Parts: sequence; C-alpha cells; structure tokens
Amino acid sequence: MDERLFNINSDNRDILNAIRCKPGIEKTVLAKEVNVAFKTLVKQLEYLEEKKFINTEPSLRINRERFYMCGISVGGSHCKLTITDANYNAISKEKFVNLCEKYNVFQQDFFMKKNNITPYGYKYFETPEERTQLEIFLKKIIKDIIKLYDISIEEESLPSVISIGIAFTGSIDSEKQVIVRSHNLDYMKNVSREMLLGPEILNALKQRKIEFVIDHNAKAMAVCEKFSLYHIDNINYNYFSKKNIACFYLGSGIGCGLILNNRLIRGCHNYSGELGHIQVPRYIECKDDDMGEVCTCGAKECLEHLIIHDVFKMKRKEFRKITSEKIRQDIFELKKNDEEEYNKRMRTLGYYIGWAVDTITKLLNVGLIIFSGKMTCFIEEAWPYIKPTYSELNYTLLDCPMILSNYGSLAPSVGAAILSAYPAHELIEWKI
Ligand SMILES: [Zn+2]
Repeated sequence: MDERLFNINSDNRDILNAIRCKPGIEKTVLAKEVNVAFKTLVKQLEYLEEKKFINTEPSLRINRERFYMCGISVGGSHCKLTITDANYNAISKEKFVNLCEKYNVFQQDFFMKKNNITPYGYKYFETPEERTQLEIFLKKIIKDIIKLYDISIEEESLPSVISIGIAFTGSIDSEKQVIVRSHNLDYMKNVSREMLLGPEILNALKQRKIEFVIDHNAKAMAVCEKFSLYHIDNINYNYFSKKNIACFYLGSGIGCGLILNNRLIRGCHNYSGELGHIQVPRYIECKDDDMGEVCTCGAKECLEHLIIHDVFKMKRKEFRKITSEKIRQDIFELKKNDEEEYNKRMRTLGYYIGWAVDTITKLLNVGLIIFSGKMTCFIEEAWPYIKPTYSELNYTLLDCPMILSNYGSLAPSVGAAILSAYPAHELIEWKI
C-alpha cells in the first residue's frame, strides 16, 4: 500500500469527522465548518473520493467499509473486544459473528459464551488474575487481528484493520504510552506498551504498519459517546450539539471522561477524571459501619469505595467479580423482601452519585452527563433518589440532563478503537 489508510484518515480528520458527524452536509457548509477555502475543500473531497474514503453521491457520506479499527477495554472484571468501522460505529452483531466464523478468528476458549443482547458485535472474557495470563490473551487476540489484516490484502471485500487501541483503568500516561497504575489490577504497574505485547507482536504490527496505542478507559468512553451522539440511530441523538459533557463510568471502579468546549480533556499526564478516588463525606446513615479494608488507592473514604461498601455491601474483590445481571437481581430481591433496607441503599446511592454530579456541574458547568458501567444496571430505579444539590446553586437541574449511554459497557472498547485512529496523545476535538 503506497499511502497508508491511517495517514489519509489522520491527515484529513477535520473534514472526515465533519462528514461523520453530519452525513449529507453541504459542501459550502462543510468548508465553513472546517475553515477551508471552498476550492481547496473540493480538491480534498475529490482526493478522498478517489481513495474511496467517502461517497459524494447522492450526498457526502463516509464509506464505512473503507477500514476497521479494533478496540479492547481491560476493566477490573471483564475485558471486551469490539471492531469499529470507518464511520466510527461499532460493527453490527451479525457482521461481527460472520467475520469471526468466516475467517476463524476470536474463537479462543477464554472468551465467554453468552447470548449477546446488544445490536453490536463483541466478545469478552474475565480479566485474568495475573499479568502473564492477560498478556497471553491479548497476544492471541492481536495475532487474530494480524490474520484479518493479512487476509484483507488478498480479499478486497474485507476492510483492512488500520489500528488497535487498548484502554485500561487507572493512570495511563498516553504520551509515554505507559500504564503507570491500573486500579483494580494490582499487577499492572509501570508497564509500557512494549512490555505488554513483546517484541514479536510489536514487530509484526510494525511491518504491517498497524498502529497500536494504549489509553485510559474513561477517556475512551467519552470519545465513543461524543461521536455516537451524532449517529441518528442513537437513542441520545437529541444531545449531539452538547459541547461540555461528563461521562461517568460506574464499573468495578468509577472513572470520569470529560469533554469541554468540544475537546477531550487529558490534563498534564492524562490522569484527569479520577472521580472515584476523590474523598467524600460518608453518608450519615452509614457512618458507623466498619468497611474493614482501604480503597485500592490507599485512602479510606473515596467515592467508589464508599459506594461499593455502603450501597452494595461488598468487599472490593467481591464487587469486582459480580456481573450487572447479579447486581440487578440482588437489588430487585432486596426491594421485594426488605423494602426499608432497599430504600436506605437507594438513598445512599442517591447521595453519593448526587455528590459526584454536584461537584462536576459546579466545577465545570457541563451540559450533559452520560452514565455507563455495571452500576447503572438499575439506574432507572435510582434516578428519583439522585439528589445533586440541596442548595440554590442548582445548575444540574437547570440545563444538564443525565442520560444512559447508548453503547453501555462497550463504550470504552469502541472508544479505544476510535482513539487508535489518532496518533498517541493527540488532541481530540470536534469542530461541529
Ligand atoms: Zn481510592
């Protein structure tokens, strides 16, 4: 391949992203939005059409099958694999299954076999207890991605994979490409991208010019959610014009991805958004309960630690293992059998989540909060209990809807794929 698909996509990102976000956009409007002279834009569009990145008839659209990106999220309890198309949509369940069977990829035994109830294709496995095991699984998956890439050279109908992104929890230095510390996974400390995959796999990727990046899962989630707001089939499509968004990932731990003025916020070292490890006054009704363990960060009264103990009444390890189905089941059983305790737990959850919402809205005045992760499996029940503020500074209630993610717990893996289409640590922004 003379010109790399990755480079064409990256070099023309503003134009392509504008078409991704507003398919069918008029050329004159597009020129204005991306601040390019009309003549220059027309030339660029001709080039992108020639390279089969876009279709101009009947209107401007991304050629979704031009290339794929693969995304993996490594969470405290589960790791997920998704494939994203050139329009930054996760590919459908049917397409994914077909691809796995036709090319005999991602068929390893470590993948869980469970009925997929989402419209999107994905595979997942339990996060291993030790690093070597995780590395073995990741290497097997990446070998299959390389296999797909090699087949795509011969078989034109199979889109080429241009990049792979892996998102981790915790402190991920996106510039140096190092997992400084992955909360909930003790064994992930100071692991570089090179250490994670080893020279053999990295060389195989390099030879094929498949990009590979690591990043932070809450930021990946925010990138996924923001792009997906523009998709007309997204339940949250009405919010596509929101430029200031907080994404709360309520999984085994709590992370927060932020978009301010249409830019992804990273901070100095990509460590922003540690919402779960901000210490919070304990809910008054629980103040005498002994937690018996400290948070993974070493402190005691962190937001996520308090929620795990005071709302779910579990030890961290136990909570890490529990599935969203089991949480839901337990909550509904509690509601049926002990209404008083159920109400107390919901009040407690409402207090903690309300506290987080209040802090974010007061500090940053965001206009939308998107929730995702396994703790949200009973959010419909919890909404009435979430009380962001008792003061008169009630910004949340004025103009900050709280909604559920379209991609749910797949958002970090889809976002990891999208982030991998950018050079590592790149500024991610939306000009529309
Ligand atoms: Zn903590």
